[in-house]
Amino acid sequence: MNNNLIFDLHTHSCCSDGELTPAELVSAAKQVGVDVLALTDHDTTAGFTEASKQAKQMGLQLVAGVEISTLWKKHEIHIVGLNIDPDCQYLQQGLTEQANRRRQRAVAIAERLQDLGIEGAYASVYKQTAGDLITRPHFAKFLQEGGYVRDMAGAFRYYLARGKPAYVSVEWPDIAEAVEWIKSAGGQAVLAHPLRYKLTNTKLNLLVQEFKQAGGEGIEVVAGCCGLNEVKQAANLAEHFNMLASRGSDFHGKKITPAGLGCSHKLPAQCQPIWRDWHLLELSA
Ligand code: AMP
Ligand code: MN
Ligand code: MN
Ligand code: MN
Repeated sequence: MNNNLIFDLHTHSCCSDGELTPAELVSAAKQVGVDVLALTDHDTTAGFTEASKQAKQMGLQLVAGVEISTLWKKHEIHIVGLNIDPDCQYLQQGLTEQANRRRQRAVAIAERLQDLGIEGAYASVYKQTAGDLITRPHFAKFLQEGGYVRDMAGAFRYYLARGKPAYVSVEWPDIAEAVEWIKSAGGQAVLAHPLRYKLTNTKLNLLVQEFKQAGGEGIEVVAGCCGLNEVKQAANLAEHFNMLASRGSDFHGKKITPAGLGCSHKLPAQCQPIWRDWHLLELSA
């Protein structure tokens, strides 16, 4: 069942902080042999219609997704929703709140930068995004293009990361709320890149336990360009809590995510894939 298909269930387009348009992303995924692709932009489904059209043309199976920012014990935790109905009102209300939070944060970040003598940040990110979904990478691009930092990583290291002068915290919703939005939209909730939060084992276990209690079903076992040890560790975590396993590159574009679409590692045999009960075509076109 679906054994021969290549899944990439975590990717970004320019509707959030990715480089490619939704159509370009679908084409790039097809080119590298991805059979089933989820578009999971941060807090928006705006790219789905365009991606869906392109996917039909190219014979690629597209999964509607989203990556929701949440707050858990002061950690920013990302929850991926898969197979959601993008037309679900309840989900979209939640995503509108997220976009508002992001706009408010953007104003505050721009003020911080202004205090540091850096003018014009808000105008730049607004221009980049048409005011829709503003992310920190948009500020990073502004800082890089203005010559304030050498690259995106530098923008985070010197300005935008937690503890840096232009960092502004956000009251993201809690995990249960995000899971509720996803489930209302008929989707499955997956804990994104569980090892990237740098939690102790005790805290990570607690996080997974609470996520599961809230209705979370899956864990990203293959997340971005992680090593085999990390895959194993995440697979053990999924197995321990009897959760389904997902696989996603977290692709943001070739410049940002050098490892590329499609991921390197397969799901270990011990895993129950999140797509276990999905109705998919057996072979790609
Ligand atoms: P936001 O959701 O607006 O707070 O932005 C978070 C996004 O910034 C993540 O999804 C990453 O794509 C990107 N990001 C976070 N930390 C870094 C970093 N150190 N270097 C480059 N990109 C980063
Ligand atoms: Mn991102
Ligand atoms: Mn993420
Ligand atoms: Mn992501």
